[in-house]
Amino acid sequence: MGTIRQEIIDKLKEGYFTVKELSKILSLPEKEIIEHLKEISKGRVKIQVKNPVCKKCGFKFTNLKHFKKPSKCPSCKSTFISEPEFKI
Ligand SMILES: [Zn+2]
Repeated sequence: MGTIRQEIIDKLKEGYFTVKELSKILSLPEKEIIEHLKEISKGRVKIQVKNPVCKKCGFKFTNLKHFKKPSKCPSCKSTFISEPEFKI
């Protein structure tokens, strides 16, 4: 597992990626990518987050929990929300 985590870290050093993109690049389920991101963030490595935005009303999400994309906009209830992006 250590190697995969290192691969994720190396990828994120290149720039911003979504969980979906990382899942494709590393051929891992999105769930596993999220688990790795959680573990990485517990260590000394600081992950920077580009927070998601509601594409309908422009609501900006903050304090993203557990690297997951929010399911619904609290302001307009739209589910049309941009993917959060991560980098190191
Ligand atoms: Zn909205």
